[in-house]
Amino acid sequence: MGSRILQTNFPSVVDGFIGAIGRTPLIRLDSLSKETGCNILAKAEFQNPGGSVKDRAAYYVVRNAEKNGTLQRGGTVVEGTAGNTGIGLAHIARARGYRCVIYMPNTQSQTKIDTLKYLGAEVFPVPAVAYANPQNYNHQARRHAESIPNAVWTDQFDNVANLQSHYETTGPEIWDQTGGKVDGFTCSTGTGGTFAGVTKLLKEKSEGRVSSFIADPPGSVLYSHFKTKGQKPDNSGSSFTEGIGQGRITGNVKPIYDLIDDALRIPDELSINMLYRLLDEEGIFLGGSSTLNVVAAVEMAKILGPGKTIVTVLCDTGHKYATRLFSRSFLETKGLYDSIEPQYKKYIVL
Ligand code: PMP
Repeated sequence: MGSRILQTNFPSVVDGFIGAIGRTPLIRLDSLSKETGCNILAKAEFQNPGGSVKDRAAYYVVRNAEKNGTLQRGGTVVEGTAGNTGIGLAHIARARGYRCVIYMPNTQSQTKIDTLKYLGAEVFPVPAVAYANPQNYNHQARRHAESIPNAVWTDQFDNVANLQSHYETTGPEIWDQTGGKVDGFTCSTGTGGTFAGVTKLLKEKSEGRVSSFIADPPGSVLYSHFKTKGQKPDNSGSSFTEGIGQGRITGNVKPIYDLIDDALRIPDELSINMLYRLLDEEGIFLGGSSTLNVVAAVEMAKILGPGKTIVTVLCDTGHKYATRLFSRSFLETKGLYDSIEPQYKKYIVL
């Protein structure tokens, strides 16, 4: 009876944490748009309730497991994640009454590990080893799920519910927000779910007119894989960015690989300076994967030429990485301090 009284038709109210996922703004970056003569548009995924683009995929992988019966009342969600999927999953698990177990490489920021703990997840930071190694965080997550009853390994890297979340939500939002007037899309990949889902949707809607460029940090194989047609995948190097870069073609990227028009490799020196520039000129505080994406959008604008509309993704804010991004010793360790442009040195306050 009481619940019937409470169910009123409000014009614009969403239902709980999950209802608040998505419908993020598309922000025009003014100074970069002026500089390139293009519209540089960035999808503000940091506005999702768990703070990142990964809330969408986290919801879809849980929903998928519920639908196919692998996850039942009181069950456990287990995942290997660089952090953001884990944060999304931890929120959703709390909201839906599941336990949440997270394996992550111990190279990730302490803030992400702590946040997961605050959200009630059990966290296992493990040595960062390659996918081929059985001790890789993903394999450990799978084995953990297999070892306990009513548990599901959500397998974000190869589970195409991830791609589907962006095909059904992020992609259509971009299409609607631009009225279909989009010429290019670019973003980096972790699982590749965002890139793949948005690319698939925009290619379908535009009948192939929209170009899609993969953006890669150093240390990731996708750029070289694409450029050498799979002949010489090269993962040498490393990056200060977190949550992106990949050593293989994941199950989310495989289905759309043939839709990729080109690949860009973005040096850390450009991504880190863009981070301070966006803070300086636009007042937007972002993590490194977002600023790499913005550099890629600018590169794509130069390639496609003036008058085009390029869309990219702002995956999360800089808060989780602040103790690194503003620390002189961290930047020195990464060999980046000397590359910071003089006008941005004021940001290095730690
Ligand atoms: N940026 C950040 C900060 C992330 O945590 C992730 C996911 N690991 C990505 C970008 C990449 O998203 P996707 O998994 O959809 O490729």
